[in-house]
Amino acid sequence: MKGEAAGFDRSRLADMLRTREPEALEEIRLAAENATLTALGNRVYYRGLIEFSNVCSMNCLYCGIRRDNGKQRRYTASLEQILDAAEFCARAGYGSVVLQSGERTDPKFVDFVEEVVFAVKERTSSPRLPNGLGITLCVGEQPRHVLRRFRRAGAHRYLLRIETTNQRLFRSIHPGGQSLESRLECLEALREEGFAVGTGVMIGLPGQTPEMLADDLLFYRKHDFDMFGMGPFIPHPDTPMGSAQVAPPGERVRLALLMIGLTRLITVDTNIAATTALQALDPLGREAGLTWGANVIMPSLTPGEYRKDYLLYEGKPCTEEGREDCMNRLRAGVESTGRVVADDDWGDPVHYLKREEGKRRAWERPDG
Ligand code: SAH
Repeated sequence: MKGEAAGFDRSRLADMLRTREPEALEEIRLAAENATLTALGNRVYYRGLIEFSNVCSMNCLYCGIRRDNGKQRRYTASLEQILDAAEFCARAGYGSVVLQSGERTDPKFVDFVEEVVFAVKERTSSPRLPNGLGITLCVGEQPRHVLRRFRRAGAHRYLLRIETTNQRLFRSIHPGGQSLESRLECLEALREEGFAVGTGVMIGLPGQTPEMLADDLLFYRKHDFDMFGMGPFIPHPDTPMGSAQVAPPGERVRLALLMIGLTRLITVDTNIAATTALQALDPLGREAGLTWGANVIMPSLTPGEYRKDYLLYEGKPCTEEGREDCMNRLRAGVESTGRVVADDDWGDPVHYLKREEGKRRAWERPDG
């Protein structure tokens, strides 16, 4: 499959997503794994995931922390609790954190996020990490001036999933006020503000076809994203999609792994996460993700007392045990795939570094 990136069109991708035959699956997996090792080497990057608040003003029909889920106890971690998790992360040698929460755009929230980013940078700078932890934000759609403030405070990566690029499917899983267009605008603004930009889709949504997923893959390439986080859709009982008809777990895992593999083959030098949702459906899901082209893992560092309250979907792993146990198990899992965990490294997407380098050169040679 070498050198075929340009040859991936919609119908070919859709056909590949229908692959069931073990040998054909193994061929795709191997191609994706080889592409990863060739483009990026065997290092796997950790991002400590701090889910700092589940207060949310949005009402996504699939999400357990949606505004109208009255059964959900709400929390926002304090600055000190977040800094404690970040310091743990820096001490453990993880080079980066992801700060994730429900979506709010009110000034109090925006000020808080800005303060947190600034403080995490300040607290975690050391000889080991001269510029502190790398910070990825995942706090939903925000206006450009807010993104700019976050960037100036020190965050340099941002995740905002498009969820699906299919207009009809998008509308069927979101309430009226939310649109594909405004997500796209935000993704565009993120790029322009200098972030490494990540997106992704949910896999196995009711009514989602292989052609729609093929379109998502082509969208990934067309918009030149730096990072991807994708995982299977897992119905949450206290949401409007709680009893949605979905394919069996094994089938959703198969599709999610194929999506990871194909994303690697068509985007090559990007960062791709093996997500927790994958692990929720299959105990070895994250390790499998690594062997299918992923190079990032996001172990949860959410303060223990809040973990059970950040349930986007059912069966989320690692809510009971302590951080240390979780991490040791994860490291062993990574090593079982023949890869190594990179310590004290931001692990920026090579794709992003190349783009930034290009910008710098153009800046230095305005006439060239
Ligand atoms: N509010 C933030 C981040 C929290 S949600 C944001 O909008 O970016 C993070 C991701 O979890 C979502 O983008 C969605 O893709 C995923 N998610 C939510 N509910 C899910 C479910 N029921 N099954 C699988 N993934 C889900």
